[in-house]
Amino acid sequence: MSGEPQDDCLFCKIVAGHVPATIVRETDTTVAFRDINPQAPTHVLVIPKTHYKDAATLATAEPALAADVLREAKAVADEDKLESYRIVFNTGAGAGQTVFHAHAHVLGGRGMQWPPG
Ligand code: AMP
Ligand code: ZN
Repeated sequence: MSGEPQDDCLFCKIVAGHVPATIVRETDTTVAFRDINPQAPTHVLVIPKTHYKDAATLATAEPALAADVLREAKAVADEDKLESYRIVFNTGAGAGQTVFHAHAHVLGGRGMQWPPG
């Protein structure tokens, strides 16, 4: 749980403007910015402005905010004119989560494999 900014959180620092990011969309509750290490032509991260460690924790605490993140993920895809895209929420270090502030990866602009690696 949380909801409070965390001093040691990279994405809280991006929300606060203390770390630069290429922001593509912003709402009252969310920020969307380009991933620094893109894995596809479109690779944007959508985050809630408030801090939760992962997507399910966010959805449990503030379901409307989790919906805001999903709605913004689609808005990102629409802006980049993606007919198909993938939304990924890595959850836990074993699944590849490295930043423990909930975020949706929006990936598109190339073919996608299934299952993912
Ligand atoms: P995850 O591994 O699912 O936690 O995703 C974290 C993502 O944040 C990775 O894809 C990183 O490339 C990305 N990332 C790390 N630092 C930055 C940064 N300063 N600006 C934008 N994206 C970042
Ligand atoms: Zn945070």
